[in-house]
Amino acid sequence: MEKKLKKTKEETQNDLPPIPLTRKELKNLFNYHIPCLCCGREMLPPDTYMNLMDSKELGGTACEAIKVLEPYEHIMHPVEKQVFNMLKSMSSKYPDKNFQELLEMKKDIHELALVKIQSSIFNKVSFYRRILPKKMARQLRKLMISTNDIIFDPEPHKPFSRRIFIHKLKNIIRNLNNKKVKEEIIKIARRLPRSSDEVCAFVVKNTRKKPAVIALNLIHSSVGTFEHLTPKCMKGLSNSLNFALECSYCNNSRHHYPIPIQIEENPDMPKNAQLQADKLISLCKKDICNKEYIENLREVLYWLSDRYINLDISHLYLT
Ligand SMILES: [Zn+2]
Repeated sequence: MEKKLKKTKEETQNDLPPIPLTRKELKNLFNYHIPCLCCGREMLPPDTYMNLMDSKELGGTACEAIKVLEPYEHIMHPVEKQVFNMLKSMSSKYPDKNFQELLEMKKDIHELALVKIQSSIFNKVSFYRRILPKKMARQLRKLMISTNDIIFDPEPHKPFSRRIFIHKLKNIIRNLNNKKVKEEIIKIARRLPRSSDEVCAFVVKNTRKKPAVIALNLIHSSVGTFEHLTPKCMKGLSNSLNFALECSYCNNSRHHYPIPIQIEENPDMPKNAQLQADKLISLCKKDICNKEYIENLREVLYWLSDRYINLDISHLYLT
């Protein structure tokens, strides 16, 4: 029995090409200003982020934290950059305050803006009470009442959580037979602002955090990550045959949706993937990346994207 099991394992391994790069080698690529596969923005090396986590200055006054973050301003994502600039101009007026104290001063105005956006989305979700089966409609009504209680209360017992709301909503409609309606409802709920998409959501969420955490959140979206091209939940491998280099924002935004849907939401992705391939090819010429990784990436992206991403890697073969 043991022998048989062993053989099957060996056979499976033989079906796959060898792993082109180790995790360490792949992670090392982040040190060479790689653009994200999806959004094309330069990524922050994960090791740099880890070192910043130990920086005491990030928990100090805004002026001290700004000095540490300034070298990374050019790779901040748009929302984070906007908040960083706001904090910069406030810090010259209030040099003794930290990030948390400065955000607190802006909280009320941003909370109002956020509630406006949220309530218009909740209205759209509530509309489905008209077409859902009775029991589900009742549960949805209950959820919307408790949600409204949270967002319209200036001092709620527990702050509103987008993640928990979507989770509860999914639970309510999980047995709904009409797949189209089910998808529509979740799609609307996903439009609820995240702190990485709206300045007001970033400010509201982060006023509850410690100054050092706020500082790290300003650069967290830019951190380089390994994206499973075939999602892990669909038995995607956890090695460089299935890993692409993507920023934390794009990785989190994709969830486990297929790549064609990721392209629908990020129409520049094929162009950005080419930018990344060009950069990897140039690193290959310096022996920092290897040919096999790029060839495999091309092949996997081509098929998983329904041929939308057709990387030109001809330069790889020019001497
Ligand atoms: Zn990205």
